[in-house]
Amino acid sequence: MMRERLVVVGNGMAATRLVEELVRRDAPFDITVVGDEAGPAYNRILLSAVLEGSHPLRELRLRDEDWYAGHGVRVLTRRRAVRVDRDRGVVELEPGDEIPWDRLVLATGSVPALPPIRGLVTPGEGLHPKVHAFRSLADCQRLLGAVPDARRAVVVGGGLLGLQVARGLGVQGLEVDLVEAAPHLLASQVGEAAGRVLRRSVEALDCEVHPEVRAVRLTDEGLRLDNGYLLGADLVVLAAGGRPATSLARECGLFVRRGVVVDDALTSVTDARIHAIGDCAEFRGRTTGFVSPAWEQAAVLAARLTGEDTAYRGSRTVARLRAAGLDVAVLGDPERTRGEVVEMANPVRGSYRKLVVRDGVVEAAVLMGDLSRVGLLTQLYDRRTVLGPDEPARLLLGERPAGESSAGLPDDAEVCACAGVTAGRIRACADLADAAATTRATTGCGGCRPAVEALLARGRAVTG
Ligand SMILES: Cc1cc2nc3c(=O)[nH]c(=O)nc-3n(C[C@H](O)[C@H](O)[C@H](O)COP(=O)(O)OP(=O)(O)OC[C@H]3O[C@@H](n4cnc5c(N)ncnc54)[C@H](O)[C@@H]3O)c2cc1C
Repeated sequence: MMRERLVVVGNGMAATRLVEELVRRDAPFDITVVGDEAGPAYNRILLSAVLEGSHPLRELRLRDEDWYAGHGVRVLTRRRAVRVDRDRGVVELEPGDEIPWDRLVLATGSVPALPPIRGLVTPGEGLHPKVHAFRSLADCQRLLGAVPDARRAVVVGGGLLGLQVARGLGVQGLEVDLVEAAPHLLASQVGEAAGRVLRRSVEALDCEVHPEVRAVRLTDEGLRLDNGYLLGADLVVLAAGGRPATSLARECGLFVRRGVVVDDALTSVTDARIHAIGDCAEFRGRTTGFVSPAWEQAAVLAARLTGEDTAYRGSRTVARLRAAGLDVAVLGDPERTRGEVVEMANPVRGSYRKLVVRDGVVEAAVLMGDLSRVGLLTQLYDRRTVLGPDEPARLLLGERPAGESSAGLPDDAEVCACAGVTAGRIRACADLADAAATTRATTGCGGCRPAVEALLARGRAVTG
């Protein structure tokens, strides 16, 4: 019997997880993945660690060619899908071929925003040579190539990505200025008090922060701000947000708002043969922009495509900033969630903690500086544990208590936010490689690695 032809457009983190899940389920499809980047799929969220020098570039790849070949999955690299023809059931590629599909999955991610700065783009030549985006491996390699000849860099955008890039360039020895249009750093995630503590920590790492200003013009002298300042810059990195990559979907007539609108089966509400997952998808009015929802969506779609009666219900957001000397975790949406606020700031130590509690339940949280309690807090948040009146404050008070380590976390406490892995599942693993292969913990942002190592070490001490 002819197998259905499943084509995945985009070869990023959502697409790779979808293919892994389909292979694991022995799904009866002929699978083709089309990606426009030069090489195989890689762990995009570790690009900033590569820039910082804390992760080797050669260890970014997610799956090797033999793995795909061994499972009969065809992967086309350096091929851009330029048009979807729904009537004929084909996707057209550059330059000129077309691939037929019975089912199509859009996993095209997002495109970086180009802020309105005069001089960024040289007519007919694209981006000014000093200007860099930071979304792909090619961007990262180009930026790393420019670092040795640069002394000063300006990063435009003080969100998670901008902070990671600024820190990476700082660690590489550059003088870095960070320009942010909002009144404080990480304005999409945290409030002003947290932003102030973060700014102090960032400036203590020799990166000057310019909040509430816009860069307006790039000239040979540098980057001009709307307050009149001129920042000298050998490099300008754009990290001012992005938007879901939806042009294919829009042009073929699918319903698109900010992202490709999907239902709880991750299926386009316009065409039941087309699905969307990851940064390009919009579910219940929300797009995401993080790897953990992309992976959850990939797993649910694989289950649906292999006949399981399951539904996507939305993902909670856990945003993690990981950069040398800067640690931030944000659970939920602390600025827009209703509830009583328990807050503790210690700018001197660079720590800030906030819980938003309603009827005793943690509805949102911010941890900055010391993240030793992130596992415990995530557990309380996920399980909607009802806390006693003194507990929220106790959770926030005190710097890292002696003897409190991840090794003692209860089995059902979540350790890896990217892949949703609990302490119990880690304890059942033989070693780090086993944990990565069987649970996927440590294979996302890598922030859980110390906790995973502590759990495994405790396991060895108990059994040894
Ligand atoms: C530097 C950086 C750091 C990040 N850090 C974190 C983090 O710490 N934690 C976190 O949760 N998230 C982080 N993110 C976000 C995270 O990487 C994304 O949420 C995740 O990659 C989404 O997966 P995706 O498959 O939807 O998109 P992507 O991984 O972006 O993959 C989409 C792919 O589709 C390709 N594509 C697009 N259009 C076409 C087309 N027409 N034809 C062919 N191919 C196409 C793109 O080139 C890309 O390769 C970070 C992102 C960046 C850039």
